[in-house]
Amino acid sequence: MAKALTAIIAGGGLGGLATAAALARTGWRVTVYERQNELRANGSGIYIWENGLRVLEVLGAYEDAVRDAFRGTHFEQRDNHNAIIESAAIPPDRRLMTTWRSQLLGALRDACLRAGVEIVTRAEVIGATPRGELRFANGETQRADLAVGADGIWSKVRETLGLELLHEQTLEGALRTMIPAEPGDFAAGDTGKYIENWNGTRRLLITPVTQQHTYLALTCPSTDTAARNTKVDKPLWKESFPEWSHLIDRIGDEVSWGVYSTIKCKAWSSGRSVILGDAAHAQPPNLGQGGGMAMQNGLALATALKDVSTPQEIPDALEQWEQRERDIVEHCQKWSCLYGEVTFLPDEVRTTVIRNAMAHPWVAGQVFRAANHQPTGAGQ
Ligand SMILES: Cc1cc2nc3c(=O)[nH]c(=O)nc-3n(C[C@H](O)[C@H](O)[C@H](O)COP(=O)(O)OP(=O)(O)OC[C@H]3O[C@@H](n4cnc5c(N)ncnc54)[C@H](O)[C@@H]3O)c2cc1C
Repeated sequence: MAKALTAIIAGGGLGGLATAAALARTGWRVTVYERQNELRANGSGIYIWENGLRVLEVLGAYEDAVRDAFRGTHFEQRDNHNAIIESAAIPPDRRLMTTWRSQLLGALRDACLRAGVEIVTRAEVIGATPRGELRFANGETQRADLAVGADGIWSKVRETLGLELLHEQTLEGALRTMIPAEPGDFAAGDTGKYIENWNGTRRLLITPVTQQHTYLALTCPSTDTAARNTKVDKPLWKESFPEWSHLIDRIGDEVSWGVYSTIKCKAWSSGRSVILGDAAHAQPPNLGQGGGMAMQNGLALATALKDVSTPQEIPDALEQWEQRERDIVEHCQKWSCLYGEVTFLPDEVRTTVIRNAMAHPWVAGQVFRAANHQPTGAGQ
């Protein structure tokens, strides 16, 4: 039997673990190096659309990732008077589920372990070379047939390979928190919905995650210093969204604040080293697809490398992977950025734009193209 090809991966987030599991399932010997003391999810809840769910199915992580998860029926936008702007039914063949990030990460970790992936924590990568090498903060260097940078938005792998074209941070950011759910939280007609409420440049996104928990994202521009306070100014947010006061009251003492990055790269690989996920194509979370794109691209990478039998064949396979996958990834990134722009429109204009745009089949097709995408490697 031929000797297995080897891969070393910087970063044990959604992208790194999905890539590791996918490569290991096709016979690669894979090691993941994670900087933190343990694999740890950053944030509470996460949306996973049809494309991401299909990747999880292929990797054998689906059941664990979505056990007890919420599957919504409608995605709804509301204006500053709590009137419905648009209520889009989610078709059965375009599932959208929300789950705990920690549960999703745990499901991917377990899929990795079952496939024989080695996971090393407390291992900080400080750079990579095109020869498939990762360099570490402790002075060590590891070399493999393939090195993967899935080390997030501040990727050292991307930086040292010189691949970055653009890294832009948004003006808008989010306070994210999980609150306990209570009976009667939603009016009878509102159960089963993801509800996005707008008022001026503030937005409140309400996402049931399980029967017991609801995920709230409170977004506003970084310049709105009162609203972005991590010790949440509840009277201020209740004034903006009075009909959701009962949920806002349940927010804990302190929540985290984060802005979003958009990252574009000249190329996703150099020699036998490659980047993916937020390291290569971070996007604002408006379409709930950054994690989906990271996992999808990891599976696509493993699929592109499936028939490679020598290290010499790897650079060509990486180029072909990038050529094939860039279009869908950049499309999703573009539409996620565009969606974010409506934040800065006056209320009445935003209402008109969202209502007219989403009613147009072409626009809806663009917005949901990534969700409808059949991930490479996920069959027909
Ligand atoms: C507010 C918000 C909401 C979002 N909501 C959604 C959503 O609903 N659905 C969705 O699909 N996406 C969402 N996203 C996007 C999603 O979180 C990211 O796209 C996804 O986590 C990217 O995965 P990744 O593995 O590429 O990077 P990361 O999740 O950032 O993982 C990188 C990993 O690498 C490790 N690391 C970093 N540097 C090093 C180093 N030097 N050495 C070793 N290890 C290192 C980190 O500790 C981490 O474990 C959201 C993002 C934000 C900010």
